[in-house]
Amino acid sequence: MTASDSAKQPEYTTAVEVADFRHNIAAVQARIDAAAQRAGRDPSEVELLPVSKTVPEERIINAVAAGCRRLGENKVQEAKRKHGNLADLDVAWSVIGHLQTNKAKDVAAFAAEFQALDSLRVAEALDRRLQAAGRALDVYVQVNTSDEDSKYGLDPEELPALLKQLPNYSSLRVRGLMTLALFSDDAERVRPCFQKLRGLRDRMREENPDLIGDGGLSMGMSGDYELAIEEGSTCVRVGQAIFGARATPDSMYWPS
Ligand SMILES: *Cc1c(COP(=O)(O)O)cnc(C)c1O
Repeated sequence: MTASDSAKQPEYTTAVEVADFRHNIAAVQARIDAAAQRAGRDPSEVELLPVSKTVPEERIINAVAAGCRRLGENKVQEAKRKHGNLADLDVAWSVIGHLQTNKAKDVAAFAAEFQALDSLRVAEALDRRLQAAGRALDVYVQVNTSDEDSKYGLDPEELPALLKQLPNYSSLRVRGLMTLALFSDDAERVRPCFQKLRGLRDRMREENPDLIGDGGLSMGMSGDYELAIEEGSTCVRVGQAIFGARATPDSMYWPS
């Protein structure tokens, strides 16, 4: 069972016109604000990263007109194409999916942020390309918090060693940690994933605060962002609740 065939969510309505996007974004933002308030947090601590994967350029233009200034894409090829086709729009692109080192050059050329850093090899490849281009990149280190082999991301035990190496790659600005939670309708199984990421962040902050940047926590998607905010998320990556249901199965984006 995957998130897309679970029944936990209301139908995601497809946004086409600018007004549709305004409506969906306002609805998500209201739920972000409410979740933050429930947790005694300031809603402005939580940024919304709209995720536009599979959405064609003509609809993205309307999302941008409705106020999206940052967009997340899982696949480099697709992100690169959209960045090129929409170059005259004011959008910062965030790559949020697993990266092969042979695509590091592309990410270094156009992305403002990379949220799925999970190895030294990728850090090295990115830094080399970024140095050559005279650019810097915000990065989150992705951690596997669900104990599933199917998820990308570092094992939690590997995190301190990777973070210790990252200052060697001066074009990478560490912003914090990122995770995908377990896909389940059961909040009591999802919540511990978010708690684990927060615990890791807190531990790193205590041991070596210089290594963890702002200590940001990128966690929460359409199906679980309110839970994530209750557990400390500072960036929610929301696709379907803004753009509408995706036809492509999630197994396209992470191995199942
Ligand atoms: C697609 C994707 C999301 C957003 O998922 P939705 O269910 O559309 O909200 C978040 N994070 C990553 C890494 C993704 O690939």
